[in-house]
Amino acid sequence: MKGQMMHYPLTTNTIIEYGNRVFAHKEIVTKLPDGTRHCYTFQDMYVRTKKLANALVNQLNIHPGDKVATFAWNHYQHLELYYAIPGVAAVCHPLNIRLSHEQVEYIVNHAEDKVIFIDATLVPFFEKIVPLVDQVQHFVIINAPQHFKTTLPNAIDYEELIANESSDFNWVQVDENDACAMCYTSGTTGAPKGVLYSHRSIYLHAQIVLSPNAGNISTFDKVLMVVPQFHVFAWGLPFVCMMAGADMIMPSSHLQPVSLVEILDKEKVTFATGVPTIWMGIYQELKKNPPKEKLLLRDYMVGGSAMPQSLVEGFEKDFGITGFTAWGMTETSPLGTVSRLQKMHSSLSQEERYKTMVKQGIEMPGVEIRIVKEDGTIAPKDGETVGEIQIRGAWVISSYYKMEDNSAYFSNDGWFKTGDVATMDANGYLHITDRIKDLIKSGGEWISSVALELALMAHPSISEACVIAIPDDRWQERPLACVVMKEGETISAEILKAFLLKDFAPYQVPDQFISIAQIPKTSVGKFDKKELRRMYTADGL
Ligand code: AMP
Repeated sequence: MKGQMMHYPLTTNTIIEYGNRVFAHKEIVTKLPDGTRHCYTFQDMYVRTKKLANALVNQLNIHPGDKVATFAWNHYQHLELYYAIPGVAAVCHPLNIRLSHEQVEYIVNHAEDKVIFIDATLVPFFEKIVPLVDQVQHFVIINAPQHFKTTLPNAIDYEELIANESSDFNWVQVDENDACAMCYTSGTTGAPKGVLYSHRSIYLHAQIVLSPNAGNISTFDKVLMVVPQFHVFAWGLPFVCMMAGADMIMPSSHLQPVSLVEILDKEKVTFATGVPTIWMGIYQELKKNPPKEKLLLRDYMVGGSAMPQSLVEGFEKDFGITGFTAWGMTETSPLGTVSRLQKMHSSLSQEERYKTMVKQGIEMPGVEIRIVKEDGTIAPKDGETVGEIQIRGAWVISSYYKMEDNSAYFSNDGWFKTGDVATMDANGYLHITDRIKDLIKSGGEWISSVALELALMAHPSISEACVIAIPDDRWQERPLACVVMKEGETISAEILKAFLLKDFAPYQVPDQFISIAQIPKTSVGKFDKKELRRMYTADGL
């Protein structure tokens, strides 16, 4: 028997209509690449988005299903694109601006992007590869200074594009399961893979991110979007804030710790997201130059890599700011789990509380997670048995874009195989120990590189640590620790070994420690283990 409720498609069009109807006065603030502050309301954005939708159809010849790419920082025009492109039933495709020329060229061709909206400051990058992406019909330049010149063919200025268009536009009718947007994985192994999101998956995901057990975001919030819009849509926040009536603060290229602290302070930000390296930078800056008044940041969400416990502790003890961890992937939109504390945790010791906060947390309603052991059986929820995280749910990928054989990525019964290794405890808290490919197998025993990194980063003299496997004649592999010392600090390998031996078995402790100036980072700010392996395994030590 069918239910008797209306069919109301869950689309991004309904999100922007809602934001404009209910929260028209709420603000979007951008610190533009040239340093000026731009501020307008949800209503202003709505009007310009409709003009842009008209321009996409009338001037750029965009049809339903076409791919329209962006190559841009986080700013208000980028938000307009997020809604205008799906609003004409096309697919919004934010490109990662930190990838190499070869990777971007590959992705643009693979996605068959028809038009690219690009920040003026990023134009030189594209001028180098433009002959190789000849199916792109137009480039639209955002935030171009006066008399801006480019060799990109068919280049149009963004403001000129929308200037004479009408703000009267009827969103193109779409089914909620139609494609809405796409992102490529950052391709740390092999070629980047395309993930095609539906309107429905984006909508449902956003509702979960704003819910209390996740972001707990409401109309009282001012949300700083540090995570790039090209990194899984800034973790969905442009849709979340429109639904929640939360003000949006966009930092564009101002991502250095000094600028972020200034924005947190001046714009009275209450909620922000970022990968651990961003939070490390913010913490160190706050220690060096504490703002005159206490920040209003009530919460921060950290994800993308494991968060060092010492950092969560530092933020809470030194600045009274609580953080929580979230886990997810490009393939999961991204949010899968969140590690907020529950009432049952109130009796825990301070130390146990922090330990729970840096776990990856419990699954969100709408997704299911299981841990599958090497022998294919499901791991018990004992907090000890390790296995691969497998996930299924309403905003989890069902197949990669244009990939014929997906069988390597899915179990026989249809769960997505994440490649992350974790345990789950009796309360359902996931704890990631590694990526399968980063685990170190030494003398037949597994060693968690993440556990060693987190332990090393808890040492008062170390600011960053990254552990990789190096080949070993006797043990097949041994861990190598690359550490970045805090300013003016030095420490011997012997002391570090003794420090680790408090928590690790002797075979798990690295034999070699290398002090380096900085850990190489990936395009989304995570430790780049592939690069470290290239540096220290191929060339030898
Ligand atoms: P991406 O698709 O670039 O967002 O990367 C997803 C991967 O980042 C996951 O498969 C994990 O390996 C890692 N990751 C994401 N969140 C966390 C977290 N909270 N703790 C540890 N690793 C994480």
